[in-house]
Amino acid sequence: MIIFKGIQKTTLIDFPGKVACTLFMSGCNFRCPFCYNKHLVFDEDTGVKITEAEVFDFFKERKGFLDGVCITGGEPTLNKDLPAFLKKTKATGLLTKLDTNGSSPEMLKILFEKNLLDFVSMDIKSSKKGYEKAAGIKADLKKIEESIALIKNSGIDYEFRTTLVPKIHSEQDVLEIGKWLKGSKSFFLQQFNSEIDLLDSKLQGTSSFSAKKMQNFAKILTPFFDKVGVRGI
Ligand code: SF4
Repeated sequence: MIIFKGIQKTTLIDFPGKVACTLFMSGCNFRCPFCYNKHLVFDEDTGVKITEAEVFDFFKERKGFLDGVCITGGEPTLNKDLPAFLKKTKATGLLTKLDTNGSSPEMLKILFEKNLLDFVSMDIKSSKKGYEKAAGIKADLKKIEESIALIKNSGIDYEFRTTLVPKIHSEQDVLEIGKWLKGSKSFFLQQFNSEIDLLDSKLQGTSSFSAKKMQNFAKILTPFFDKVGVRGI
C-alpha cells in the first residue's frame, strides 16, 4: 500500500494534453542539489499522508473531469507497490504518467510489460561526465542508459528533460546530452528556480540562466531530437 505525501488536484501542464491530478510519493535515492522537493526526498513519517483508499475516493469524485494521473516524487519507482497501484488506477479508466530519475530500469520494465503507463518523463540529470555533480550521488550510468533504451523502445509517449543550473551545467554538458540521447522524440530544458527551498541551501538565491541562454541551449539540442522545448522562462 502506498501512502502518498501530497496531491495536486488539477494540473493542465504536468500530463501533456490532458487534464490530470498529480500524486506525490516520498523517498529518493538521488540528492540533486537543485531539488525543490526536499520534503519528499527523505522518506520521513511526517506531513501530509494520503491513503490509496482516499485517492480512489477522489478519482470517483472527479470521474469525467480528469483524463489522467501523474505519479511523481521523490522517486516513485523505488516503491514495490507501484505496479499494483497503477493497475487499480488504470482499471478506473484513467491514463497514467510517471516521472522518474531512471535509476530503476527493473521497475520500468515491469510497468511497460504490464502496460501500466501511458506517458513517461525521465530526468536526464546532466552529461555522463557531469552526472554525479547534478544527481548529488554516484549514479549507476548503466542503469540510466538501460532506462533510456527501455523508454525509447516502449512504444508509449515520453519525454526526457533536464533542469539547467549555472553552477552545475555548462554548454558542453548540453551538447554532450544531445549526442548521448540523439534520436529521442522529445527533449525539454527546464529553467532552474532558486527562490524556493532547495536541497542544497548553497544554491538558494543563485542566478538561473537567462531566457536567451536557455533558448541558445535549445538550439544546440535541435539537431538531435524530433522536438525540443524550454519550460519555465
Ligand atoms: S530532483 Fe533529484 S533528489 Fe529531487 S526528487 Fe528528483 S531525483 Fe530525487
